Amino acid sequence: MLTARHIRRPGPGQRKDVERETASPAARWTFRPARVLFEEAALDYEMGRRLWDLFTRREDPPAVETRLIPSHNRVTGLPGGTPAEAYREAKRTLVVGVRRGLDFAPCRPSADYQLPLVTSCPGLCEYCYLQTTLGRRPYVRIYVNIDEILAAAGRLVAAAGGERPVTFEGAAVGDPIPVEPLTGAVARAVAFFAGLPAGRFRFVTKFPSVEGLLALDHGGRTRARITVNTPEVIREHDHGTPGLETRLETVGWLASAGYPVGVMVAPVFVRGEWREDYRTLFERLRSALPPGTDLTVEVVTHRFTAAARRNIRERHPETRLPLGEEDRLLRQGQFGYLKYVYPPGLIAEVREHFAELTRRLLPGAVLEYCV
Ligand code: SF4
Repeated sequence: MLTARHIRRPGPGQRKDVERETASPAARWTFRPARVLFEEAALDYEMGRRLWDLFTRREDPPAVETRLIPSHNRVTGLPGGTPAEAYREAKRTLVVGVRRGLDFAPCRPSADYQLPLVTSCPGLCEYCYLQTTLGRRPYVRIYVNIDEILAAAGRLVAAAGGERPVTFEGAAVGDPIPVEPLTGAVARAVAFFAGLPAGRFRFVTKFPSVEGLLALDHGGRTRARITVNTPEVIREHDHGTPGLETRLETVGWLASAGYPVGVMVAPVFVRGEWREDYRTLFERLRSALPPGTDLTVEVVTHRFTAAARRNIRERHPETRLPLGEEDRLLRQGQFGYLKYVYPPGLIAEVREHFAELTRRLLPGAVLEYCV
């Protein structure tokens, strides 16, 4: 028989975990770092001071470790004995900094330029492309000088002369949504582009913390996208991210708020019953979206670099990702590095299948690219 003796009540340190278990999906998936490092210069900005006050508010024991650092590009002394532990600890570390480089990199095929709102993300997806680009600095960085970042975007739009809209990608080197309740950066970008007729903004996420975006006047100039995959891929290779149901709910909220929305299907693995699995995924997408949704579809097949493979094997020693070279071709990527991709014939089959799924199950949606 169950008695009071068997019921474990949460101690002070456990209470937050209990609250998170019972919270809404958005609250449950908002990033809660183990430590927050502040670049000293970040405290010259309102967002930096606000976050400092938030995270240094003393609890007993302190909920989060905080310290000042000279630069957000030089973070040392993070815990972790093995590469896998170090990676996990880095992903639990939030660095609050000032973004100094305001020359935005190109961002093909999804946009004209990257808009640096965040670098990295708390997720632990095995195949993450950031395994290559962030190398030994996978910790999560946010930037307090959002006004300066947006002003630089405005200058690029003005310089283009208004002949065609200039598009900015807010998720090129990270996922801005798990930290959105802390930064409000995506909301600021949405409002900024709503007032900029020749500018367009887009971001993509796997996380549901979009509550602060739903009531905004977006002017139809922001496309909010969600990354989806089959439940089997999510279960096997995504870690620390919400499941498919939460992602579908999130894109449904955004579509109901009138945003142009999008789905990014990535990475597509050509294995097993892939045609059938992705057909089922598209059927679920169709049910999740209100009729008449302005929808785009992007498809990215699985690819990896030699550097990413090394990192993946160190950080996820149990991985079952297909990382062999037998059925791949080596191709040069847009930033010059070599990557292993599926052969062109197979990519053509994938493209044909997703074109057909889009036509038949999501009529009116635009398949933007399949690479
Ligand atoms: S959610 Fe996206 S950015 Fe974050 S780890 Fe996964 S693939 Fe990388």
